Amino acid sequence: MIKFYSPQIGEEEIKAVIECLRSGHVSQGKYVEQFQKDFSKFIGTKFSLAVSSGTAALHLALLALGIKNGDEVLVPSYTFIAPANAALYVGATPKFVDIEKGTFCLNPSLLENSITNRTKAIIAVHLYGLSCDMDRIMSFAKKHDLYVIEDCAQALGSEYKGKKAGNFSDVSCFSFYENKFITTGEGGMCCTNNENIAKRI
Ligand SMILES: *Cc1c(COP(=O)(O)O)cnc(C)c1O
Repeated sequence: MIKFYSPQIGEEEIKAVIECLRSGHVSQGKYVEQFQKDFSKFIGTKFSLAVSSGTAALHLALLALGIKNGDEVLVPSYTFIAPANAALYVGATPKFVDIEKGTFCLNPSLLENSITNRTKAIIAVHLYGLSCDMDRIMSFAKKHDLYVIEDCAQALGSEYKGKKAGNFSDVSCFSFYENKFITTGEGGMCCTNNENIAKRI
């Protein structure tokens, strides 16, 4: 039987957790700071902000971009439910866009027919480690003045044209739930190069 996921926790991790417990800082402090620093270095963005889940990362990204009641957010019709839920959390309406054959990601050709004058953002989900067509999504977003959030929960270390997923949009969101590439039990990260957005998150 091939397991859907199985976190590999070795002596190094166990030692680090015990050290953390003994330090008296189990939620913030030097370990979280180091994690954020290492994460930025690995992904290539200026800022990495650790949060409590991938869903919280998406929620905070939308709040930081000012997405609110009455706005529409384009999300792929085939993905985990979190991106659509995050849009609902801020009072926006998720609008579903079908996916592309081959990548299982948002089909850029369908964006044009999906926008209205209330559309404010696109959540591009990189699914199963495969990357969205970020060039086409970003040029569409630029043309129509839309924000883009990358959902990288399934794409830690994935690359698009030689650059790591998470570098292409206004904010990118990661998850460290136990079935993801690396795990903190529950956890997530927002990455951005924009200092204002980082401060708001
Ligand atoms: C897992 C996942 C999330 C949400 O992450 P949680 O940490 O479970 O909240 C969001 N988007 C995608 C594509 C995911 O696979």
